[in-house]
Amino acid sequence: MKIGIIGGGAAGLAAAYEFGLRGHQAEVFERAPFLGGQASTFPVGGTPLERGYHHLFRSDTAMTGLMEELGLGHQMRWIDSNVGFFSQGRIWRFTTPIDLMRFGPLPLLDRVRLGLTTMYLQRRREWRSLEQQTAREWTRNRAGKRVYEVIFEPMLRGKFGEYYDQISMAWLWNKFALRTASRGKGLKGYLKEQLGYPIGSFAEIFDTLAERINKQGGSVCTSAAVQRVAVEDGEAKGLEVRVGNGPVERRDYDLVLATVSSYIFPSLVPPLPEDYAKRLSDVVYLSAIVVTLVLDRQLSPVYWMYVGDRSMPFLGMIEHTNLIPASHYGNNHIVYLTNYLSKKRPYYALSKDELLKEYEPHLKRINSGFDLSWVREYHYFREDAAQPIVTRGYSRRIPDHHTPFKRLYLANTTQIYPEDRGTNYSVRMGRQVARLMMDDQSTAA
Ligand SMILES: Cc1cc2nc3c(=O)[nH]c(=O)nc-3n(C[C@H](O)[C@H](O)[C@H](O)COP(=O)(O)OP(=O)(O)OC[C@H]3O[C@@H](n4cnc5c(N)ncnc54)[C@H](O)[C@@H]3O)c2cc1C
Repeated sequence: MKIGIIGGGAAGLAAAYEFGLRGHQAEVFERAPFLGGQASTFPVGGTPLERGYHHLFRSDTAMTGLMEELGLGHQMRWIDSNVGFFSQGRIWRFTTPIDLMRFGPLPLLDRVRLGLTTMYLQRRREWRSLEQQTAREWTRNRAGKRVYEVIFEPMLRGKFGEYYDQISMAWLWNKFALRTASRGKGLKGYLKEQLGYPIGSFAEIFDTLAERINKQGGSVCTSAAVQRVAVEDGEAKGLEVRVGNGPVERRDYDLVLATVSSYIFPSLVPPLPEDYAKRLSDVVYLSAIVVTLVLDRQLSPVYWMYVGDRSMPFLGMIEHTNLIPASHYGNNHIVYLTNYLSKKRPYYALSKDELLKEYEPHLKRINSGFDLSWVREYHYFREDAAQPIVTRGYSRRIPDHHTPFKRLYLANTTQIYPEDRGTNYSVRMGRQVARLMMDDQSTAA
């Protein structure tokens, strides 16, 4: 079979590879001039770096398994995680249970309540009954108002911005279950979480996937924007694609897979039946705006910093070179400053210069010596489909991979739940949907 795939991110490339493994010919079209979508890279000090901070967890076995298949297993690095919490004007270490016991912003009794709540969530396996409650309600009831306000609210804001109080508890539960899986065995392992990073960057994985897809007889084309899915008599028959500045060309396919976001999909197809269209439009996405500082020295000793101080203008700070050494990036220190927000928020419209001006005085609160002269370069990245908002009862509203048009399927991050969206789950979903599409054809034959 010949399959047309829209989108050269983790999901589209993994799906194409899966089709190739079964002897089918998949053609991937990516509108950007590079592969990787949300996990794409740009060079810093001659080394590829993700536009948005990226790491993996031990539980990300779809991604690590794929790396093994591609002969890239030796490129994975597992590094002790190093988490901090900015609160009350200082950084608190927040990696181990001992750090928790020393965490000053909470009185001792609340620290114990937080520890017990965390342990309960890490051990719990069932999530469906948590789905009807918001994380706010559940954590306030279980751990108390103060623990919620000091710990859980900043965590939820850090990921869901202004929607922090509407998020399903199933999502938060999953975060804790997942973090447990990232810890090793025994007491030592329990005390130390490890995070993973492919040392050749995520670009190496996507480039190797593209090579494999080509060897399998498929193809991967960048700067190739799909304009329309050709649908005839309710069936997808092909794609209309513009490569570079060339004319729009029609290509015929037996099956089509779209891995684009739910707000792009309707613009590529004829009018959708109301029910499916509503499922797509009901999902709210938050945008991520990320300012990346390339510094001549370290800013903080922490890799992942939760910001528990509402007066700070960013929701998280990730100092990538506290995970991977600065020497890997030509002795540049890399700090991501991140915000998740909706398009109506004022920061959404700010330029990278305006954002840096807003952020600068607050960087001095993290390191009093910080000075703009430390900044060698800075970059801006915005992703509008960064974070689907997963509210109560979300599992019942997820759009199906089967679209209302025959031979046309959809696989995007809104269909990942209760896990947090991530490259691992896009790889897993891409491969699963490819198998579903092939199985549907065998059943129909
Ligand atoms: C700031 C940030 C931090 C993140 N951190 C992590 C992390 O630490 N670990 C982790 O695993 N994941 C992380 N993620 C999530 C992860 O990057 C995504 O979940 C994953 O990459 C999504 O892959 P995808 O293929 O499903 O979608 P996308 O990457 O969005 O791919 C869809 C592709 O479709 C293309 N496209 C759209 N329209 C068209 C068209 N008409 N024609 C052709 N192509 C089109 C787009 O250009 C895009 O490349 C992060 C994401 C962000 C934004």
